[in-house]
Amino acid sequence: MKVTVDRGVCYGSAECAHRAPSVFAFEDGYGVVRPGRADSGDDPRVREAAEKCPSQAIVLAE
Ligand code: SF4
Repeated sequence: MKVTVDRGVCYGSAECAHRAPSVFAFEDGYGVVRPGRADSGDDPRVREAAEKCPSQAIVLAE
């Protein structure tokens, strides 16, 4: 499962970077997926980050 952050929706709470720091970083006021970690959508911490993202900006897709 792929994970991406929709920057147009993210409002920069940084919660994803705290919840799953090996996958998400916080850069320039936005949550981003770290390079090489786009295939981490099956990681339970990533799923939790997606569920708890306050703006629903984290997208999980096949
Ligand atoms: S948790 Fe959601 S709103 Fe907060 S930085 Fe991450 S993607 Fe953006």
